[in-house]
Amino acid sequence: MQYKSTRNSKILVNSAQAIVQGISKEGGLFVPESFPHLSMEEIAALADKTYAERAAAILTNFLTDFTPEEIQHCVTNAYRPEKFGSDRIAELAHLYDGTYMLELWHGPTCAFKDMALQLLPYLLTTSAKKVAPNQEIVILVATSGDTGKAALEGFKDVEGTRILVFYPEDGVSAMQKRQMTTQEGHNVQVCAIQGNFDDAQTGVKTIFTDAAFAQKLADNGKMFSSANSINWGRLVPQIVYYFSAYADLISSGDIRPGDAINVVVPTGNFGNILSAYYAKKMGLPVRKFICASNANNVLTDFIRTGTYDRNRAFHATISPSMDILISSNLERLLFDLCGEDDQEICQLFDSLKTKGTYTISDTMRTKLQAEFYGGYCDDQQTCAEIKKIFDKYSYLCDTHTAVALKVYDDYKAETGDTTKAVIASTASPYKFSASVLEAIEGKKSDADEYTQLARLHALSNLEIPEQLANLQNKPVRFTGSVDKTEMPVVVAKMLGL
Ligand SMILES: *Cc1c(COP(=O)(O)O)cnc(C)c1O
Repeated sequence: MQYKSTRNSKILVNSAQAIVQGISKEGGLFVPESFPHLSMEEIAALADKTYAERAAAILTNFLTDFTPEEIQHCVTNAYRPEKFGSDRIAELAHLYDGTYMLELWHGPTCAFKDMALQLLPYLLTTSAKKVAPNQEIVILVATSGDTGKAALEGFKDVEGTRILVFYPEDGVSAMQKRQMTTQEGHNVQVCAIQGNFDDAQTGVKTIFTDAAFAQKLADNGKMFSSANSINWGRLVPQIVYYFSAYADLISSGDIRPGDAINVVVPTGNFGNILSAYYAKKMGLPVRKFICASNANNVLTDFIRTGTYDRNRAFHATISPSMDILISSNLERLLFDLCGEDDQEICQLFDSLKTKGTYTISDTMRTKLQAEFYGGYCDDQQTCAEIKKIFDKYSYLCDTHTAVALKVYDDYKAETGDTTKAVIASTASPYKFSASVLEAIEGKKSDADEYTQLARLHALSNLEIPEQLANLQNKPVRFTGSVDKTEMPVVVAKMLGL
């Protein structure tokens, strides 16, 4: 299996190269040259397998330059039951008739990013041995909260790697800040910057593309790599849990092999929902992909009109991991919808860069709308949904998942489609306890984050994740903050350059 770039189809690399490189030289994203197909027998057979075995069954098709032993090593270490609270890893909970919550937040950092970032370090170190032996891999991350912590947990103490995370000093939740500043591991560093997420992101990009810096690294036996969701190594693990959910529905007798389902995903960078779309290309029977956004509804407009327009106000919402105006992984979907025409993709993204907007062809829009439904809701509707779901079903959901549930209600009201649905539940409600508590009690709480955890627990009886409760007793390792211009100095210092 080879991977080609969305902006130059002539560039072909194997999976190890795609994972180590992260992004193609000319700015395109790597996509598989073809999609393997699983028969319904093969899909149904996943029902009898552990999660790690399910992951191996999917990965084998894509990582053809990995040996079976290497894939085995990666999946068994990533998906250890003790790291995900049970051997089910991606738990499927029944919410109400025909509606199921795919709980992707039982991992070490309580958000769905763990599903990929627990595996990525193994994929990356295995790949580096093949294409860049004896090099130390340096991961730089700019985060608005969830990715940084999940990447730190994934890469901590991983031989041959270093990780440095930058976050905006005042741009993450109290719990997210705690999670990062108390991070353990000998190869990790966390640095707050005086600026917003964009400053952090721009700073990281500048360091990445600095040729002199890269040379200095190379002279010292090191290289940069990326852990963000444009890396193929972050997408491929996410395909697995859609097959896993389908297999679980077969084994519980809720569906028969071959029955179609709908998939609902609270969406930001478009990585999670794209993985579901890729699962369909591999044979998973999905009728509709329901793409849920918050007040940053650029994707809703795009799906409804075919015009992507980032020229709009940015809203800071209570579902911050979806506060995004440029959804990077959409590029991979567009590449598919236009029949893999790299020139067309170059034109669209050139237009996005210069004008902040592009419009796809009628043919592409027709294909897009046949597969996707887009909807959004604001913070007030998100809170109302959290309360409704809790009152009706005694089920506590986080702010991101609530957006998905609300948009799914709207979808059903609009279309009357009652196909059974899997909702991607992307974070533990305890990770956003202030907003969830406010939604349920109807007023803001002044209590500290640990008191809020206890209050939510008293209300819901849902177990508090140990890893969040324990933060209270962990020493803070990383304090202070730097100006954004000092980011290169921080990196050089950490690496002893
Ligand atoms: C990252 C994230 C999302 C958005 O996922 P994408 O793959 O970027 O679309 C949704 N919810 C939570 C809790 C997240 O951390």
